[in-house]
Order: sequence, then C-alpha cells, then structure tokens
Amino acid sequence: MSRCSITQLKERIETLPDEERVLTHRLFAVDTATGRLVIPGSMRAWVGEAFGSVEEVEEQRIVRVTNRITLEGALFNGLRASRPLDTGVDANLEAEISRTTGDPFCQPEKGTPEDIFGRVRGAHSITASNIAKYDAFHGVIVFDEHDPLLLTPERVDDYVSVGLEWSRRVLETDPDARYFLLIWNCLWRAGGSIIHGHAQVTATRHGHYPKIEHLRRSALGYAAEYGSNYFEDLYRVHDSLGLSIPFPSGARGFASLTPVKEREVILLGRDPEDGSLRRAFARVLAAFVEDLGAKSFNVAFYLPPLAPVEEDWSSFPAMVRLVDRGSPANRTSDIGAMELYAAPVVASDPFEVAGRLGRTLAP
Ligand SMILES: [Zn+2]
Repeated sequence: MSRCSITQLKERIETLPDEERVLTHRLFAVDTATGRLVIPGSMRAWVGEAFGSVEEVEEQRIVRVTNRITLEGALFNGLRASRPLDTGVDANLEAEISRTTGDPFCQPEKGTPEDIFGRVRGAHSITASNIAKYDAFHGVIVFDEHDPLLLTPERVDDYVSVGLEWSRRVLETDPDARYFLLIWNCLWRAGGSIIHGHAQVTATRHGHYPKIEHLRRSALGYAAEYGSNYFEDLYRVHDSLGLSIPFPSGARGFASLTPVKEREVILLGRDPEDGSLRRAFARVLAAFVEDLGAKSFNVAFYLPPLAPVEEDWSSFPAMVRLVDRGSPANRTSDIGAMELYAAPVVASDPFEVAGRLGRTLAP
C-alpha cells in the first residue's frame, strides 16, 4: 500500500474496503478545509524562502479529525506537515546535559528520599520517593545513566520492570492503591524539572485518573452500542489506513489519527506484565530518539487496576502513549490555549511517523 499524507486522509478512507470504511466513519469524523490568504509583493521572497512555496502558503489544506467515541481530536495543517522532520544533533543540548552531571540523581541513595517500603532496584535503575508528591504514592525511577537520551531497549525495559515492581510494593503497603500510572517527562519541554534520566510512578485509590477513566467509559459505551471492542476497532482502523507499526511480538502499535501533540504513537498489549508490550515500547522509544530525532517527549502507561475493583475493566488493554514535545532549544511552548481548551494543533503527519518507524523497526 503506498504511503499517503494526512491531507489525503478523506480520499484514502473512501478507497478502503466496505467494512473498514464503515468502521472508520464510525470512529472518526474527518473534515478538510482550505485556508486562503493573500501575500503582498513585499513578502513574497521571504515566504518563498521560509516555506518553500508561496502558493502553498496562499492555499493551506487543513484536516480536522475527531474521534467520535472519545472526543479526542486534532487539527492538522498540511503546510506544516509537509516540512521535513528534523533529526539534527543539538550541541548546546549535549553541553547542557553534561553540565548537570553530579546532580542528586547521580547518587540516588544519598541524594533522594526513599519510599516507606524502601527502594526497588533494577539492573539499570533504582526508585526514589518523589519529594513533592501529587499523590500519596509517588515515586521516581532514577536511571543509572545521567543523560536522559542515552536509551537502549534493554535499559528502557528495565525502567518499566522496576516501575511495575514498585506498583506491587505499593499494593502490599496499601491494598486500595490499585490504580497505577507510569509517566515519563523527558527534559524541560516535556515538563521534566530534572535533566538526569528518570520516569515517575504513582498509585491512586478510588478510581483511576479522569482521562483514563474517561477512556474506559467511552470504550464501555462503544461496546454497549456496537457490540464490539473499541480498542480492537481503533487498531483495525489505523491498520487499514496504513498507520500501524509492525512488531515481531504480539504488541500492536500505530501513529494516532488524533495525536495529543506531535508524532503521537500508541501501543496496545494484553496486560501490564506483557513482555511483548514492554519490548515493543523499548524499541519504539529508542527509534523515536535515534531515528526521528526526538529530544523531549512524554510517555504514559494506561493500565487496568492491579487488583480487582468494582467497575468493569475487562476490555481495557495495556496502552502506552508516547508523544514528541519538540526541540528543547525552542522557547515557544508547543501547548497553548488551543491545546488546553479546544483541540491540539499538529504539524507532524501520522503517515510519515508510521512510515519512518515502520522502516526502522522492520524485522
Ligand atoms: Zn545525574
């Protein structure tokens, strides 16, 4: 199947076989609009230089995608999406990272507090207790490696394993803390306050965090209305459009049609202990950094509760979300009023993300 671009999404959907086309329309509303403007003569040379083509600026194709089930959405601008991905090396960033070597995370047992149940140690990481918590159980997975971008599949797999072991230790301490979240804010663009490589883990009680609970309820509503598993259908739609990312193991991944911000990739697996999901995540993250040139990113593991609860999580998979937060050299935040209050504005093309990762990860 030839690779298409997000600006051709509407036409692409119409070429799908009947069943997939109906399913895509069930899950997604796609609207295409053209934004027009007039460039004065005095600006033409500059616009041609900056954007490559005056015509493409004068007529801009905008694609709006809305997930009808979850009401996640994104606005893609074809002009921005057509720009090449930046994979350059930033010498200033490397210098800034090495300047902070010797921080408290470089000696975690002296420089960080520990949880009331102690620390979890892995081959490449150790846990600390977060000093300024946002939940009763809030830990940090401190990586042995100071440089947060020195990621290998083996190390990443260890960080996640340590996080899962932390969640089991929490559950022994408080059997009500069943809702586990693993997140990762890499560098300041992504909200990371400490440069040294680390991820965070929380465990909460009495229901999962609202965004995850919203997704669970949306999927339940979908199952009630259509008698079908939302997550299976979500994957099927992305796969039929050419947005899936192949993995040798059982895990499934795709570049999202409604990314929360740039180049969002979603992975689906069976359960938190699913080794194939962990391996797929470790590989895709390493590729994200090495091949796509991501420097600052966020990760979240959406997992069903770790012990039985009252509400129905039976159809909820283990889901990993990964998003690029752009260049740490850029002072402009990638998140403004649109992202907070309306819908994300996205420059990257999910078809290009899937194509790049697919070529990198091909067995
Ligand atoms: Zn350090």
